[in-house]
Amino acid sequence: MHPLASGQYPGAQRRRIGDAVVTALADGYFDLGRQTMPTASDADLAPLADTPYATPDTYRSSINAYLVEMGAKRILIDTGGAQSGAASLGRLGPTLDAMGIEPGTVDALVMTHLHPDHAGGAFEESGGAAFENAEMILHTKEHAYWHDDALITEDNRHYFDIARKATDAYMRAGRLTMFDTDCEVIPGVFAEFLPGHTPGHTGYRIESGGDALLIWGDIVHIPPVQMKDPGIGVAFDVDGALAEKTRRHLLDRAISDKLKIAGMHLPWPGIGYVERDGQREGDGYRFALAPYDYDTGHP
Ligand SMILES: [Zn+2]
Repeated sequence: MHPLASGQYPGAQRRRIGDAVVTALADGYFDLGRQTMPTASDADLAPLADTPYATPDTYRSSINAYLVEMGAKRILIDTGGAQSGAASLGRLGPTLDAMGIEPGTVDALVMTHLHPDHAGGAFEESGGAAFENAEMILHTKEHAYWHDDALITEDNRHYFDIARKATDAYMRAGRLTMFDTDCEVIPGVFAEFLPGHTPGHTGYRIESGGDALLIWGDIVHIPPVQMKDPGIGVAFDVDGALAEKTRRHLLDRAISDKLKIAGMHLPWPGIGYVERDGQREGDGYRFALAPYDYDTGHP
């Protein structure tokens, strides 16, 4: 059993959820342009230009992963994209090193889905598992989709390649576990099927000591645009209509249930809550960052 993590580090930010500690890890970023949102109008994209930090026509989308320490377990929710080929990703590993967390001490990789910015940190260049003792856990439908040869084209081959390398490394080691219905995948970690972005896209609700945090994966990629109008999808949604339905339902629920949420592409550290952007029904939403957590120890 490891001592409970404490203190704050650059590239990592911690928050207590009940008796658990959730550490947001900044793996890097993607600069997403208007081609990412093919159906968005100039007016839809206006929120991107509205802040002093904006760059015209692009949005710097955070790539986050979350280390959850609860009970005796170290659980990584997604792995960033170290082997994705994108130079702007891959900072998660060095940050774990800086915190003194050896890859071999991570018990489980719990995957929201298998896109390169989520699964690209699960394996090494050699093809071996980057977390040598971890069990990889994911939805059956996610695994099936990325192992369907009939879906591969010249354009998407890279995505299939990364997804397969990530899962196969753990399959070969006998450490791949799949589920096909919402369940408690690890004590205190509950799967919530949120399909559309990919066929097996899943969020995970961390429950501890009467507190809860829903890590919702890729419900949005460009929060200022997609939360204002949840009807706007991204080009890499596998099923855009289903992704929209899932997004609308979850944003609504986040308000009504006052959910604490975290997301892989919410602005770093990506932990916060959803607010209504306006007074009326139909006004859309916006993301609000949680207050900084001073109660995780020093520094
Ligand atoms: Zn993503």
